[in-house]
Amino acid sequence: MRTWIRSPLCVFDGFREVDADGVVVDGNRIAAIIAPDDPEPEDIDSVMDVSGQVLMPGLINTHHHFYQTLTRSLDCALDKGLFPWLQSLYPVWAGLTDEMVDIATRLACSELLLSGCTTSADHHYLFTDRCRNALDVQVGAVRSIGIRSVLTRGSMSLGKRQGGLPPDNTTQGTDEILHDSERVIDLYHDSRPEGMLRIALAPCSPFSVTRELMIGTAQLGADRSVMLHTHLAETIDENRFCLDRYGCRPLDYLEQVGWLRKGTWLAHGIHFDQSEICRLGRQEVGVAHCPTSNMMLGSGHCPVMSLQQAGVRIGLGVDGSASNDCSNMMQEVRQAFLLHRLHYGAGGFGHEQAMQLATSGSADCLGWPQIGRLEPGSLADIVLFDLDELRFSGAGNPLAALVLCGAHRARNVMVDGTWRVREGELSDGNLEELRARHRKLAAEIRQVQT
Ligand SMILES: [Zn+2]
Repeated sequence: MRTWIRSPLCVFDGFREVDADGVVVDGNRIAAIIAPDDPEPEDIDSVMDVSGQVLMPGLINTHHHFYQTLTRSLDCALDKGLFPWLQSLYPVWAGLTDEMVDIATRLACSELLLSGCTTSADHHYLFTDRCRNALDVQVGAVRSIGIRSVLTRGSMSLGKRQGGLPPDNTTQGTDEILHDSERVIDLYHDSRPEGMLRIALAPCSPFSVTRELMIGTAQLGADRSVMLHTHLAETIDENRFCLDRYGCRPLDYLEQVGWLRKGTWLAHGIHFDQSEICRLGRQEVGVAHCPTSNMMLGSGHCPVMSLQQAGVRIGLGVDGSASNDCSNMMQEVRQAFLLHRLHYGAGGFGHEQAMQLATSGSADCLGWPQIGRLEPGSLADIVLFDLDELRFSGAGNPLAALVLCGAHRARNVMVDGTWRVREGELSDGNLEELRARHRKLAAEIRQVQT
């Protein structure tokens, strides 16, 4: 099946705006980029006219906690920095069930797709008696929604009794975690370039995981060739915790436990000094930059340009919906643009750089070069935005308009050659029914809020 997506308003290829009259999709791959003076492509089965729409690679989210869509804007967590915010929310999250994980995952993925996101990573680290099978439940949900995914088998093993931050009833033992990590890799990890689901391993953070688990996870990740993910250098409190408990800064700790290597991506990466930034770049570590969350929790400014210059692979993430509090990737591009404008100046960070973070930048961060780009051979993950809204009226440069005027909902979204959003609506599923179930479960889980 060859489809010519023809006559877009403008095209962004993952790095820059390009002069093109659309793309040809063959099955689940991009077969050709059509230049304006090229002859019409041959052997086309269908033509889709996308006049007035901006065509670009699907956006890629490198960090999320889908389950947190159930705990948006909770009173107990308002106006707090990371540690007190977490301490307020852990008891609420301890009530998570398999059903909640399922519905929250479906809702977050629907929200992401509608915002133009075609691949999402998720960091799920809560495995309690009521949601022992959270990762298996998530696999069912992402497959049914049809979004390309990197699901991480997260973990917490350092409870309060041992000097960690989370309550003991939200942690598991090292052996149990590593055993289950192997199980889900065997069952679900698809390392093929065109795979729809990859598994990665993700102990939560230095203050919720033991050194022993970090070392065991690094070994398992190397043995099974899967990526490693964790939160690092998010706050000054975390730096203090590492100095107190491990006698060193977070990056030194990361190196000691065998994680400073290609195939690791870190959420946040804010509080590094220049020599640490160079060490990260030399090892080609990735960073999931989460601007909204960093601003919401007052965590600090991620030095994205210094990190990029050093060779760090920077992607964009919405982070969990308790610190955002939505899952809109296109809005996140605007947040990144505005945050770095403030830091680097009006001429220092442009709309194309912000878009690059969410496309080819995120793809490189996740070690998946076949997505996030519009070039022959890339996977057919494509998003189209139109400018047919009040907020765009009178706009000049259409690509800049998406970022400057605040695009927030895609018109058409293709994942792996299949349209998942058509004319601004999900192709499958009943969104109203899903929202009703989600609201009911959110009301249930927040009852334990103190
Ligand atoms: Zn996070």
